[in-house]
Parts: sequence; C-alpha cells; structure tokens
Amino acid sequence: MGQMSRRRPPAPPVPARSRQPGRAERLTEVLERDGGTCIWCGRAFGGLVPPTTEHVVPRVKGGPSWLANEVAACRRCNAERGHRAPVDWLEECERRGWRPDAARLARALDALQAAIDREGGQRRARPHLDAARRRLRRRLPPGPDPRTVAS
Ligand SMILES: [Zn+2]
Repeated sequence: MGQMSRRRPPAPPVPARSRQPGRAERLTEVLERDGGTCIWCGRAFGGLVPPTTEHVVPRVKGGPSWLANEVAACRRCNAERGHRAPVDWLEECERRGWRPDAARLARALDALQAAIDREGGQRRARPHLDAARRRLRRRLPPGPDPRTVAS
C-alpha cells in the first residue's frame, strides 16, 4: 500500500481550438443543431436515407474541418454535390424540384463566418464564403416570403 496504483497516463492536453470530435460525434452534434433532414433535398433521415455530414465550403476550396463548416446531408446529395459551391448546388437542387433549406444554409454560412472571425486564418476559404453569403443574401429578400403573400 501507499504506492501509486493508478497507472493511467494523463490525458494529453487538447487545445479547444483544434478539438476534433470523431465522425459519429460530429454527426450527432450537427443533427441536434439542424434537425434530422437533409439540407438539400429535405428528406428525413432513416435507413434508406442515411445521414452524413458535409462541408459547406468544400475542403478543396480551403473550407476548414470545423463543426461550423458542416451540415447534415443525405449520402446521395453529399455524393452528387461533390465539390460544387453551396449556392450552385442549392440552385441545382431547386431545378430538380427539391426543396433545399436556404435558410439553414444561410445560418450555416453565418456561423462559419463568425467562427472564422473568432479563430482567424482560413484565407483560402474566405473568398468562397463571401461569395456564397452575397449570393444567398440576394436570393433572400427581407420581409415576408412572397410565395405566402395572398395576391
Ligand atoms: Zn438529400
């Protein structure tokens, strides 16, 4: 007795800034934040519509692998979008007659902007993020949705 019996090594320090939850944990967090539907086609996730997370600003365009740059999308939409810019793909979804969640995309882009403002860096992603936010703002006039206003 009296000897140290706990042999578990101390956990390595994890700077908050680079904390990277595992894939399952990230998916759970994104689903809790955004709800259980695909941002692009609106289908509810389930066995035939498996949820994935994808990057709002694609990794190839410098998008960071932060939760603030992830949204929940079904596997089909994630694969079909590829590296397309988010608003390009949003409009492609509309051409297909789907109901992409433009308001959710706007929130995601705002959250990513806030995270970049806070964390700094991400110089490659910034112009892509700026362009996407500009395009989305032009699409989302303030005021009531014209489709719901009685004529
Ligand atoms: Zn989808």
